[in-house]
Amino acid sequence: MIHEILPVGLLQCNCSVLGDETSREAMVIDPGDDIPAIQAILERNGLTVKYIVITHAHIDHIAGAQRLKRLTGAPIFYNQNDLPLVKMMDVQASWLRVPTPEVAPPDAPLTDNQTLAISGLSGTVLHTPGHTQGSVCLYLPEHSLLLAGDTLFAGSVGRTDLPGGDTNQLIRSIHDRLLPLPDEVTVVPGHGPNTTIGEERQSNPFL
Ligand SMILES: [Zn+2]
Repeated sequence: MIHEILPVGLLQCNCSVLGDETSREAMVIDPGDDIPAIQAILERNGLTVKYIVITHAHIDHIAGAQRLKRLTGAPIFYNQNDLPLVKMMDVQASWLRVPTPEVAPPDAPLTDNQTLAISGLSGTVLHTPGHTQGSVCLYLPEHSLLLAGDTLFAGSVGRTDLPGGDTNQLIRSIHDRLLPLPDEVTVVPGHGPNTTIGEERQSNPFL
């Protein structure tokens, strides 16, 4: 598997490019900004984007999605429960004092336990509400990899003080859906360094 992680934009959201070496198909997760740099990764690896996956509709994760869609033709997937956040993109832009990015409803909704597959690579969508109502993680069991969005961080958890946030729900999502995963699963959070499920189960002070 090809996996490149690129921190993008003002808030350095971790954008992941996941690709298959044989089919050269790819999915891009959370293209929040810096679309030319993401495109350079795709070109360097000879990858064709099949899906654009958004872990949740905060501006730092979704802002570049329409630009990447226009360049690649790939559809954008996210959970419907984040549509209220998409409708208030102008408010989100004002939080960061940036122009309002172009956004749209998902081309297809992401639902719990849905399989997202490209040729040679497959993942399962885990709906983990709490940071936002539509937050999802993408789990690739064959690669012991979890793309966690802003649900779980190394030594921390997602903030819940923004619209749609719910602390109890977030902790429940992590306990019910993420901590049961094997210890060795690498967690790529939406911001900051990677960690593992085992490390967080043992030492995350919020859990
Ligand atoms: Zn967020």
